[in-house]
Order: sequence, then structure tokens, then C-alpha cells
Amino acid sequence: MTVDLPAAGVPEHLAEVHARIRAAESRFGRAPGSVALLAVSKQQPVEKLRAAYAAGQRAFGENYLQDAIPKLDLLCDLAGIEWHFIGRIQGNKTRPIAERFAWVHSLCDLGHARRLAAQRPPALPPLRACVQVNLSGEATKGGLAPEAVGDFLAACAGLPGLAIVGLMTLPAPAEGEVAQRAPFAALRMLRDRLASPACPLPELSMGMSDDLEAAVAEGATIVRIGTAVFGPRG
Ligand SMILES: *Cc1c(COP(=O)(O)O)cnc(C)c1O
Repeated sequence: MTVDLPAAGVPEHLAEVHARIRAAESRFGRAPGSVALLAVSKQQPVEKLRAAYAAGQRAFGENYLQDAIPKLDLLCDLAGIEWHFIGRIQGNKTRPIAERFAWVHSLCDLGHARRLAAQRPPALPPLRACVQVNLSGEATKGGLAPEAVGDFLAACAGLPGLAIVGLMTLPAPAEGEVAQRAPFAALRMLRDRLASPACPLPELSMGMSDDLEAAVAEGATIVRIGTAVFGPRG
């Protein structure tokens, strides 16, 4: 008898994604364990997040604040769970991100940076942030133009409560590893150019279900994986 539980398959899919990451680390000469898995749980039911947590996953990424907050409430019993905000920051809705998330991957507005810094509760560690970079110039996508990132980092320096730890990108889907690697290489080179002792930018948040190998090849330290872990979004 098979029972169609909503979270069936999540532990197996998670194990498969870990195996893909390990294989890519080995193939591209990356240190074992140097690529972290962020499980992107947007539009997924909390049962699936619980199943992933039970299988050892701790970092979860959400895109939409209004969907995320009820999930954070429902899962507040899970010790050590870590929430990452990866979606577009809507208007001035920064307070729930500052108060309840550990990371934001989609920072690209100085007003948002200042608000997040001011709203971060002093009792919490600084909010870790990646600056989102729009490498393709697609007008519909969030992110700063590469030329604007240096000034943005300088303007964020010294904001209390906010630690800029790296760069993030979300390229248009591409076929084949060569085409997939190009924007990831561009993000890595931008990081190499902008990193300084005061702002070393160790993190590169890049790679999703269909292009994680290409991202690992180009230096990703965090891959953001949704469908390969949780299945199609509801
Ligand atoms: C949805 C999403 C992902 C995950 O995409 P999959 O293709 O489902 O792995 C990663 N990053 C961002 C910013 C997303 O919105």
C-alpha cells in the first residue's frame, strides 16, 4: 500500500541534491562541503519543510513575505531553523525581514539597506546580506547593474545590524553548461574585483535546480534549490 503523503519523497530528493553538490565539488576541484544548500520552500506546504528539517536541512529560502510569515510562525518549534529572504523586497516592508530572517539575498536598494540596519534588533547577530546583481540587464529582474555595486557597498559600509557578506544573481535560464556558466563567472569576477579587506565578500549565492553544477564550477558558496528538493510548486 502506498500512502500519498504531501511530504513523500523529500528526504530522498534532498539526498539526491546533496549527492549532486558533492559530485560537482569533486569534479570542479572545490573543497568538500564548501557549497551550502539553501532549500527554497516558496509555495511549498509546511509538511514538506518539516520533512526536510527532519532529514537535517536547516536553511530555508522564502520569496514572498506574506506567505513566509505564517510558515515562520507554524515552524517556530524547529530549533536552529534558519530563514533566508530571497525575493523582491516590496515597498518599505523591511521590518519582518529585519526581525525574523537570518539572511537576505536580494538586497539592491540603499533605502532598504538603511531600514533593515535600523530595524535589526540589537540582540540578534547582524542580518547577513548578499547584494543582488542583474548581469543581463533584464528590466523585469531585480538587482543592481554591475557598475553600481561598488558604490552600493561603500554606502552600506558601517551600517550597524547589517553585514554584507557576498553577491547573488538570478540569471535567465540557459541551456548547457557553457552558457550557464557565463553569468556565474561574471559574478565571481565582479566579486574578485570588489572584495577588500574591509569587505571580503566570501559568499556567492548562485545556482538553482537546473544549473547548480555550473554555479559550483564558478565558485558558488550557496546554491538555492527549490523544485529538486520539494518537487513542483503548488
Ligand atoms: C524559486 C527560486 C529559486 C529556486 O528555483 P528552482 O528552480 O525551483 O530550484 C532560487 N532562487 C530564487 C531567487 C528563486 O526565486
